Amino acid sequence: MSAPEHRLNPTDLKAFCTTLLCAGGARPDDAACVAAHLVDANLKGHDSHGAGLVPAYARHMKRGLVNLEASEQVLANTSVILRINADGGWGAPAGRRLVERACVKASEHGLAAATLGHVHHLGRIGAYAEQAAAAGLVSLHFVNVTDHAPLVAPYRGSDARFGTNPVCIGYPATPSRPAFLLDMATSQIALGKVRLAANRGVAVPSGSLIDKRGMPTTDPGGMAGFELEGALTPLGKHKGYGLAFACELLAGVLGGGGTIQPGTTRKGGITNGLFSIFIDPAAFGDTDWMKAETDAMARYALASPPMDWDSPVLYPGDPERAIAGKRAKEGIPMDEVTIRQLNKAAEELGVVERL
Ligand code: NAD
Repeated sequence: MSAPEHRLNPTDLKAFCTTLLCAGGARPDDAACVAAHLVDANLKGHDSHGAGLVPAYARHMKRGLVNLEASEQVLANTSVILRINADGGWGAPAGRRLVERACVKASEHGLAAATLGHVHHLGRIGAYAEQAAAAGLVSLHFVNVTDHAPLVAPYRGSDARFGTNPVCIGYPATPSRPAFLLDMATSQIALGKVRLAANRGVAVPSGSLIDKRGMPTTDPGGMAGFELEGALTPLGKHKGYGLAFACELLAGVLGGGGTIQPGTTRKGGITNGLFSIFIDPAAFGDTDWMKAETDAMARYALASPPMDWDSPVLYPGDPERAIAGKRAKEGIPMDEVTIRQLNKAAEELGVVERL
């Protein structure tokens, strides 16, 4: 049976997370940016990347697995290339700064590529594509994960060798259609969704997990604890495995922070590498025609008669928009176990407020 859920006001939740992160030693502007990024993920329906991560972030602060005094280093800064070493600092502020700078380059020159290495968890990657789309730019993002034990088995393998390595593509809105956003882990399901399933006392979808013997399981227990037992499976067999590998090459190798192979430092935090490309549609032709063609294609795809009339065909990005509208009005649902974990983190950090 699933546990009862509470509804939280997003502004209150953001303030609570900011307080906890500050209490752990984060600089106030970093804490506010990270908290906003997490709560935005909750609002968009990605609770796996929301405020429930604060207890893990608190552990990282305590163990020195995030650099609270990070000072970014620019490794390259040409007209169309930006390479940054984030010095182990917080993900959201470094990610947002990188996107802002790369968008200026792409708007001036039509195209830009940017990498970010040695950065703490970037959280929900779609937020960076949304930032670029709001500036009128197409963007592609490839992310790898290091410092953490691997979570995803390679196709045909029986133990974990990859992170959940997300791939994300954003395409700006047209006057009649909001931005396209494909933002996905390359595992069948994200690890946070296994943690939430365990907290809620429900099974994970079949085919998404293997146990420590390499056998299929729907029990989230083994992958929800501190000691990870088993592995997530790659999305779409060899195809997701290939994309996860591409993330290691693009984000880990080109990004300069390294791949998840055991020679790369593994202290138990979450470090991301990011490789992104930004494109100004105006550099590729007549933007009026592009907008009309985008709309025509979307109308065509979405008009496919649904197999189930309760589940119509959607434009990628629609699920996040729909849930954000609902949660902004009704509040963010949070299960009892996640609330307890957040309150325990507050207690350990000496914060008096509770959810
Ligand atoms: P998901 O499966 O919920 O959604 C994937 C994408 O599919 C989204 O773009 C969504 O808009 C789209 N989508 C969903 N249903 C659809 C439908 N019916 N029709 C059309 N499009 C649809 O996402 P996920 O794979 O569980 O990833 C969750 C989040 O985890 C992502 O935001 C990702 O960036 C994040 N993540 C981050 C890291 C990291 O290290 N920073 C690692 C892994 C995942």
